[in-house]
Amino acid sequence: MSKKILIVEDEKNIVDILSFNLGREGYETLEAYDGAAGLKLALEEDPDLILLDIMLPRMNGFDVCKAVREKNTSIPIIMLTAREEESDKVFGLEVGADDYITKPFSMRELLARVKANIRRTELTTAHPTPPAEDDGRRLVRGRIMIDMGLLMAFKDGRAVDLTPKEYELLKFLATEPGQVFSREVLMERVWNYNNFVGEDRAVDVAIRRLREKIEDDPANPEFVITRRGLGYLFREE
Ligand code: CA
Repeated sequence: MSKKILIVEDEKNIVDILSFNLGREGYETLEAYDGAAGLKLALEEDPDLILLDIMLPRMNGFDVCKAVREKNTSIPIIMLTAREEESDKVFGLEVGADDYITKPFSMRELLARVKANIRRTELTTAHPTPPAEDDGRRLVRGRIMIDMGLLMAFKDGRAVDLTPKEYELLKFLATEPGQVFSREVLMERVWNYNNFVGEDRAVDVAIRRLREKIEDDPANPEFVITRRGLGYLFREE
């Protein structure tokens, strides 16, 4: 069955070019030209991915993202930011976007991001448990197993539905258990934000979402630990 992508964008020429190119790649598309209509379609049609503009009539992209996350935590959301504004990207992550792409974007880049963000839901369906054969690229950390061939994580032998960034964050921390990483380092190494200054709440939000997926009790984490004032680490065995 073809994957359904919701495009929420008020510039008709951008919507047209996105629909055309996504359609050519075999995706089905839904279009909304304002935030309120986008939110309605997101909740009613249960798309496989949302491309979400920020500056929209009736309801901005941040509020749409927040509202979608309150109802459903797993639809991948890619924000389309008009400017190279750090604050837009960071705020997008804070309200629960998985990724962002800056306009004007290259279609190839956008299609690659769409594919990567949709791939994970397919993978979790295809591999609810780890494949029998170990391709030698597995990182085992107690109850957590990271399969770097599949780009998936498993907990107690069951697939965890992580976004690409959550996967990267977990893998980054788990590669060096016991090592504390500051928020600045995580912003740089996981999100590729260079010279990141200012608010680092985006990291805390991402960590919180990761914990909700991998921890038995997110309030008392067993795997991803906070070092107050310093940053985060993956617990050493
Ligand atoms: Ca706009």
